[in-house]
Amino acid sequence: MIQPNKLPYTLSLILVLGFLLVNLPEIHAQDENRSIDFPDIPGYFCLNGDLHMHSVLSDGSVWPNIRVQEAIKDELDVIALTDHLEYQPHARDIPYPDRNRGFELTTKAAEGSKLMVINGVEITRSMPPGHCNAIFIEDANNLNLEDVMEVFREAKNQNAFVFWNHPHWTAQQPNGIATLDEMHLELISEGLIHGIEIYNESTYSEEALQIALDHNLTILGNSDIHGLIDWQFDVPGGGHRPTTLIFATDRSPEAIKEALFQRRTAVWFDNTLVGAAEFLTPLVQESLEVERVGKALVERVIIYNHSDASYILENHSEYKLHNQADVFTVPAHSKIRIKVKTVEELDSYNLRFEVLNAITAPGEHLELNLEIK
Ligand code: ZN
Repeated sequence: MIQPNKLPYTLSLILVLGFLLVNLPEIHAQDENRSIDFPDIPGYFCLNGDLHMHSVLSDGSVWPNIRVQEAIKDELDVIALTDHLEYQPHARDIPYPDRNRGFELTTKAAEGSKLMVINGVEITRSMPPGHCNAIFIEDANNLNLEDVMEVFREAKNQNAFVFWNHPHWTAQQPNGIATLDEMHLELISEGLIHGIEIYNESTYSEEALQIALDHNLTILGNSDIHGLIDWQFDVPGGGHRPTTLIFATDRSPEAIKEALFQRRTAVWFDNTLVGAAEFLTPLVQESLEVERVGKALVERVIIYNHSDASYILENHSEYKLHNQADVFTVPAHSKIRIKVKTVEELDSYNLRFEVLNAITAPGEHLELNLEIK
């Protein structure tokens, strides 16, 4: 029997418990859905990386451990905290004399998790060369040099992987068109720059992709986060940060570095994949599983999607579909049923699609073959 004077307390307890019972599954599900999830491909693990991010040690708004916690929530495999070498607007409150400190703090914060953390910095200069990240460095302090070419040579000396950040950034390239300067050509030809961001925060550069193709550079897509991932990319609303997919032979920093130097990457942003067909073809093939539901003149096929990408397919097959127009979507982590008008009963046949949100070169989309047997 509840005493009358305890009634308000008991009622509020019931209300709180009721709220939790109703909402906990949803709160939990939100956290589960946010993981960035793509299948491995034959011969390689598909690892997820964000290799460009900031903390209060340079011009970011959070302590380095938050970068680690966000990455663990997103189930990333690898991150690099890349605070600016030459730019510390918070120095009055947070002095940053040791440029390796960010790496120490993120490494400590990642202890006990599967997240790999690599040492990195952002070389922060006016154009040219603009901003570049050096990752897999041995000692950030040795990179803090006046002459910019000397910084790149020291990075090479440390066997770092170096990439050009946001070459299309309007603060440094007002027309938004990534353009190579003499200095960039020199850096590329001397083997001092190995990669280029084609996607940064929420901006895409087709011109940067073309530069990567013309000069054999590794493509990357990174958040360049300064604030919070959840706010910047509307994670509660189903958004996700941009990431670099790395096709590595092993789940180790060494294998990741090797994959980056060998240009085995793709970029994932805003429900779009960019990369060479060599990697996107197996990635989409592994994502989609096809089940044939008996032979018929109008036969049913179930397409399962085991990835985060909602694939937008345009039918290029010789068969028309009975229940879809020529463009349709296979939602992420879901399945759809299509009906194929094969006209005659076939033992096996191919469905061919253009994957409209898988880009292999400027203006070109991935061609996909699904064998039905
Ligand atoms: Zn940056």
